[in-house]
Amino acid sequence: MEPEDFDSEDKEMLSWDINDMKLPQNVKKTDWFQEWPDSYEKHIYSSEDRNAQRHLSSWAMRNTNNHNSRILKKSCLGVVVCSRDCSAEEGRKIYLRPAICDKARQKQQRKRCPNCDGPLKLIPCRGHGGFPITNFGKHDRRFIFLQSKGEHDHPKPETKLEAEARRTMKKVHTASASVPLKLKESPEAKIKHTLPR
Ligand SMILES: [Zn+2]
Ligand SMILES: [Zn+2]
Repeated sequence: MEPEDFDSEDKEMLSWDINDMKLPQNVKKTDWFQEWPDSYEKHIYSSEDRNAQRHLSSWAMRNTNNHNSRILKKSCLGVVVCSRDCSAEEGRKIYLRPAICDKARQKQQRKRCPNCDGPLKLIPCRGHGGFPITNFGKHDRRFIFLQSKGEHDHPKPETKLEAEARRTMKKVHTASASVPLKLKESPEAKIKHTLPR
């Protein structure tokens, strides 16, 4: 394809940066929500997209202070693994979601591996020049812009759904049959961040 085949609008769609004063508004097609944005990805979502509004990610990301209040910044917390590198059924590895809250995360690292009872350890994310990957989100009129900076250098943590399913399984094993099973909401699920407008 000749470079001329790109018209100026297409170029605008590809070359924006979250810090631009003017983000493209002539968007013909918005992206499907991406659960695992990686490798310097940029996405333009519809402002109606619920997941984009909440700035969700399947990576364990926590809010980070940003000098620009119009841009929401989140950084990756990595993944919690078994220090014995054990394998569960079907050779699956233990890749737990780091808790978002600092205190809970410290507590989490004192827990034992759910598979072999070995000590757990946190692998921090160093995918952005030795620092955690940051995702930037900005709500601008009809669109939500998402820019990911860096490439995750660690395995994917289990998703929130997988983490909940595992906790439920554990409870089924330990709870007596007469006790009704209640899905406990994880603390991170309660914190629903909405992008600043
Ligand atoms: Zn283990
Ligand atoms: Zn990461």
